[in-house]
Amino acid sequence: MKFQAPRGTQDFLPETISSWQSIEDRARQVSERHGYREIRTPIFEATELFQRGVGETTDIVTKEMYTFLDKKGRSLTLRPEGTAGVMRALVEHGLAQAGRIHRLWYVGPMFRYDRPQAGRYRQFHQWGAECVGSDHPNADVEIILLLVDYLASFGLANTKVQLNSVGHPGCRPAYAEKLRAYLAPFKDSLCADCQARYEKNPLRILDCKIPHDKAIAEGIPSILDSLCEDCRTHFDGVRRRLDALGVPYTLDPKLVRGLDYYTRTAFEVHDLGRGAQSALGGGGRYDGLISDVGGPAVPGVGFSAGLERILLALEEQGKIPRTEPATVFVARAGGSDVEAEALQLVREVRGSFSAVFDFDSEKSLGAQLKQADKVGASVAVILGEDELKGEQVTLKNLKTGAQERIARADLAGHLARHFTTMETAR
Ligand code: AMP
Repeated sequence: MKFQAPRGTQDFLPETISSWQSIEDRARQVSERHGYREIRTPIFEATELFQRGVGETTDIVTKEMYTFLDKKGRSLTLRPEGTAGVMRALVEHGLAQAGRIHRLWYVGPMFRYDRPQAGRYRQFHQWGAECVGSDHPNADVEIILLLVDYLASFGLANTKVQLNSVGHPGCRPAYAEKLRAYLAPFKDSLCADCQARYEKNPLRILDCKIPHDKAIAEGIPSILDSLCEDCRTHFDGVRRRLDALGVPYTLDPKLVRGLDYYTRTAFEVHDLGRGAQSALGGGGRYDGLISDVGGPAVPGVGFSAGLERILLALEEQGKIPRTEPATVFVARAGGSDVEAEALQLVREVRGSFSAVFDFDSEKSLGAQLKQADKVGASVAVILGEDELKGEQVTLKNLKTGAQERIARADLAGHLARHFTTMETAR
């Protein structure tokens, strides 16, 4: 019997892990520099949390959730996104309070029963951030900048920020009516899903992926013309700040996002080098979400970004930060005293660097050093009978072939210098 990873999932083998680590490390660093702190929540939650949070009429809830009953018959769902769980955690721990600001970030796998293709998977990874407790436009701008500056930190070019305001539950119904009036003549030609959306939540039609429906949506009246005074003022505040900071963006009145919880600001960052699956990340304001999941009326704004897509874009532009493992190979040639001392050396070196050795003590020095190449070590520490007697080791630079005998007591300093030189030579 041959097993395969489930459709839409991927294995990340050790060769690709350094790229993953570098984009995750950068996410951690950029988040912390913006004052955001990490939060970790469960990978599965009560199904109802997503039905309430993400929205009953969204594709995510109607078609894409991995839902199962546990042995006690409770309905659980593998998280399709991170925000609902983070808000549930804040409410559960009594942290969602008016006037209290939380800056939080997370990274981890998300699960959606999507049609797998390049850039679209059933298990994928998101880095996200949430700023909870403020309805000020500065919070929206901080969240947009967090994503924009993260992408810019790699030198990623050819990206575009799209911006919209989806209003709030007070002014949206009037827009929904305008939309219904505009769409009425086309209603019967819309896909079955959109016909249902027409009644329940016509804004969702703007998110339809079917070309015929997309074409109809091209001519819709702009939601920006239907915003109430407060939503307009807020949106102008966001735009004014982005303009002052020199952050380019395009207005897209059709940008509604695939989740129902958004209010006011909605944004996405796209990779212009890609046709399909070009969204690298997106987010917006969700002033009603915390109360929707049982908490007080506390506003919030956030985003999530797809790490597979960011990696793809970085690879295409040759912008993946290169990291070579700082590996030391310990080789030995001699009797049991040498063997015992070599094992001791491995342990010691592992206190500061990554160190490996060949398990087979019968192997020739040459064969051991071949192994050193295979594991990508840049330096070997060699121990023979002579070195053992003289309390020395031989240090061999595996890139240049240069070698020198040094006092064993000086080994740590030599290794540190070796790796610093390699780092600066890059
Ligand atoms: P969303 O909140 O649905 O817009 O998702 C935020 C980001 O996650 C998107 O912009 C994508 O980069 C990424 N993403 C969403 N769904 C998938 C998927 N099925 N596979 C890979 N990445 C995804």
